[in-house]
This record gives sequence, C-alpha cells and structure tokens, in this order.
Amino acid sequence: MSDAGRGERLEALVAESELDVLLVGDLVRPGDSGPDAMANIRWLTGFTGTSGMALVGAGRREFLTDFRYTQRAAAEVSEDFERVTLEGRLLASVATRLAGRVGFDEDATSVSSLRKLTEVLPEGAELVPSNGFVEKLRRTKDAQEIAAIAEASRLADEVFEWLAGEGMAGRTERDVAKSAEARMRELGAEPAFPPIVGSGPNGALPHSEPSEREIGSGELVVVDMGARLDGYCSDGTRTWATGGVSSEARDVYELVHRAQEASLAEIRAGLTGAEADRISRDPIEDAGHSELYGHGLGHGVGMEVHEAPRLGKTSEDVLGAGDVVTVEPGVYVPGKFGVRIEDLVVVEDAGFRNLSSTSKELLEIG
Ligand code: ZN
Ligand code: ZN
Repeated sequence: MSDAGRGERLEALVAESELDVLLVGDLVRPGDSGPDAMANIRWLTGFTGTSGMALVGAGRREFLTDFRYTQRAAAEVSEDFERVTLEGRLLASVATRLAGRVGFDEDATSVSSLRKLTEVLPEGAELVPSNGFVEKLRRTKDAQEIAAIAEASRLADEVFEWLAGEGMAGRTERDVAKSAEARMRELGAEPAFPPIVGSGPNGALPHSEPSEREIGSGELVVVDMGARLDGYCSDGTRTWATGGVSSEARDVYELVHRAQEASLAEIRAGLTGAEADRISRDPIEDAGHSELYGHGLGHGVGMEVHEAPRLGKTSEDVLGAGDVVTVEPGVYVPGKFGVRIEDLVVVEDAGFRNLSSTSKELLEIG
C-alpha cells in the first residue's frame, strides 16, 4: 500500500530543509529490521521485506536493498522509485551514493552504524540530523490506511468476543494471552504487540506482563491487545469481571467509563492533546483518584502501535482530520485491581469515528 504522491511530498519536505538528500531506513539493525523499523520504508515505497533504505532528494528517489530482495523490490516497490541492488557491505555501499548535506534520522541510527557510516563517508558529504520527516507525513492517514486500521481493529474485536466467550477464571494470565495470540493468527493477523492480561492486583500495573497467576473469580481483568494486518496496527483495551466484583471495583469501573466517554464526546479536529487529556482527567480528579491515573490519555496508531500525535498532560499536538488515536484513561488501585478502557478512533472535522465496537458495559465473563 503506497502511492506515488508520498515520494513527492517527502521530496518537498527535504527541499524545505535545505538537504541534498534524505537517507530513510533503519540504521539500528540495517539489513535485518522488524516491522516497526521498516514502517517508514513500507509507507514510502510499498516494500515489505526486512532490508531496504531509500534516498530522496531533488528529482531523486532511490530504493536500495540487497540481492535477497531484488525480486521482491521489483514486485512491490512503487514505480516512483528507482530500484537499486547494493553489493558488498551495506553501509559502505550506501555511502558511495551520498553527497552534500545528507539527512539521517538519529532515532533510527545506532552509535555503531553512525561510526561506520562516518568512516566511509565520501569527501564533501556531511551527515545532518533530520528526525521524523516520514513520521510527520505518516501521521495523517488516507482513506485506504483508515480502512486497513479499521479492519485490524475489527479483527481484534472478534478476538475480544471470542475471549469473553471462553471465560478466564481458573486459567493463568499467560494462558489467556497465548490463546488470544493464537486466535488472532487463526484469523489471519499477527499480534501488534504481546497482549496484556492483568488480573486482580496485576491489573494495577498498567503494562504488566502476563504471568503464571491463576485468575480468580470475582476479579477485574484488564486485557489490552491489537492486531497487525497488512502493515497496519490496532490497539484496544477492555476490563472485564470474572463474576461479581466489589462495589469499589464497580465504582472505579463506572468512573473510568465516564471519563472515557467524556473525552470521546469532545474529540474533533482542533482539540489539543492536552485538552483531550484534561477532559478525561477531571472526573477522575474529582473522585480523588488523580494519582492513580499515571499515564496520558492516548497516542496515535498506524504502521506502529505508538506514533504521533500524543494525547497527554503536556501535549501541544493539535488533532487533525485523519489522525487515528487511542482514548484510554485508566485508574490503577495498587494491590487491588486496575481499570482501563481503550478505544481506537479516527479524528474527523466535526467529531470522530470509533473503530472499536466491543461493548464497554462491565461484562461479567466466567
Ligand atoms: Zn493498548
Ligand atoms: Zn494504547
């Protein structure tokens, strides 16, 4: 999924920044990159392999890979890019193509790659830190991308529904998490990240790893998962009860649900990340739980699970139509339980479209 306009838009950004060329790609594990590290290349060129870089400058769009991927590049890479097969050592081979002011992304570069690249840089070429160029363009999703994320989210909702039907009491968190991953693969997707299953007191650790703890009855269980489908991710959380829970747990659940609906009601283009966060935080502060809501309201989702924009106390990001963001307040009561409710939404001019369809009533599962 890529279109010719993307290379052109990046070329314009590069020109504005007074760079001769921008080096796009993973310089942490070049030649052996995972899906997150390849997201910029996949977005820009359509290439789905593990070894690829791009050079973009005035009238120059090159896609670089090694011999393992020559054929895949021919099949996948947008015709907008010249396809080049590099020979010999990757960084040395890339370096021969560099001249003038060369932008590179520090966030995607290891110290050792930078040293190697510097050693072989041709005379006259200069490396200029130029972070986040492609990420900036990736932030606003087009209709095709929104459709892909919606489908990933729909598939994750199918797994949520299946999980609820299976019940959890008497099973370990790890078993529940593994079964969710397996179900997701059966349905044709990969997990976007390892699912979180936090039961009882473990639910109070917002990013706890599923443990060998056996889930009891009458507990709250936080389940956070997402699917990755055709390169695009989803992210969603539900908190369920294994039978009747304490009135304290029920009250906190209702509070988080209210906070989540309150912030959703205001989501639209023009709202800042800090404003959205504030709306969700007010009811939780009023209930005296401000210190138990220790993370931001949400984050952008796309080819990576966490990308721009950010919704949090200090975020100056202004929401725009085509942003895909999570809305996920939580309250975590140490030693007892946690509650988080997370929807994935597309920001529109006058509101939003919710891509999450699993019920947010406190569901009692077995
Ligand atoms: Zn999540
Ligand atoms: Zn999230």
